[in-house]
Amino acid sequence: MRFLLRNALLALCASLSLTSATAAPSAPVAVTTSFSILGDFIRQVGGTRVTVRVLVGPNEDAHAFQPRPSDARAIAASTMVVANGLGFDDWIVRLAKSAGFRGTTLIASKGVRTLNMATADTHGHDEAGGIDPHAWQDVANAQRYVANIAEALTAADPAGAGTYRANAERYAGQLKALDAEIRAALGKLPAERRRVVSSHDAFGYFARAYDIQFLSAVGVSNNAEPTAQGVARLIRQIRNEKVPAVFIENVADPRLIERIRLESGARIGGTLFSDALSAADGLAPDYLSLMHHNLARLLDALAPASP
Ligand SMILES: [Zn+2]
Repeated sequence: MRFLLRNALLALCASLSLTSATAAPSAPVAVTTSFSILGDFIRQVGGTRVTVRVLVGPNEDAHAFQPRPSDARAIAASTMVVANGLGFDDWIVRLAKSAGFRGTTLIASKGVRTLNMATADTHGHDEAGGIDPHAWQDVANAQRYVANIAEALTAADPAGAGTYRANAERYAGQLKALDAEIRAALGKLPAERRRVVSSHDAFGYFARAYDIQFLSAVGVSNNAEPTAQGVARLIRQIRNEKVPAVFIENVADPRLIERIRLESGARIGGTLFSDALSAADGLAPDYLSLMHHNLARLLDALAPASP
């Protein structure tokens, strides 16, 4: 009996080591995604089991992206395609279709609490009434993205389930702490200081989650041309309502904001990262540092001057 048990245990050990040998795939899961913030989420969850190719690189504008033939080839060779959805990066879904991609396509924003586009006074002509795609700017939504990515990676690579679960849980803990930190820090600002100007309407979700009002110079997409009337109205509003600061964005042309600063007398609060990470050696190489950077810039610009 004891002998049989020992043999059974040996057999079990052998089959376990066999399982773990086959569990580490010789080729990791190849994921192609549209933009750098999603790329970071996928790396956080996938760890060494995934290779991630990001089509719109650091500081680049996904709204204005023109795919190259090499992008179609990268997609065709992928196991999974991850898009933001909500109209932000429909081009990657079209590209996957035209490239004959047969793997899984994940819409990472699936299930987030969406926000309708603001019909701000400064524009309102552009895509008004649709859904704002910049959902990652609310950290609670980022947690939804991460859960969706973990689920899709597990389905594509069941042997990695434990790794994906552990990575997603660790990262979700960091996101939860980040969300609490932003709430606590911005919560201390007085009501009259909770208002800034940015280049395009990228911070609607941040505004809703953390109660800061963002006025934007152009619409929800950087492609939209601001009207002269809209800009003049924004400048009047900055003066009348004493908006403390205007911000440049890493993905937008700074000239319009510079002109608004000159004509309104508001100060430049620095650069906010909206739709893309920085380069690896920059100020916001991943989502956590991006949100920390934006929080620090907002606090610097909006904290009341000490008496
Ligand atoms: Zn945008």
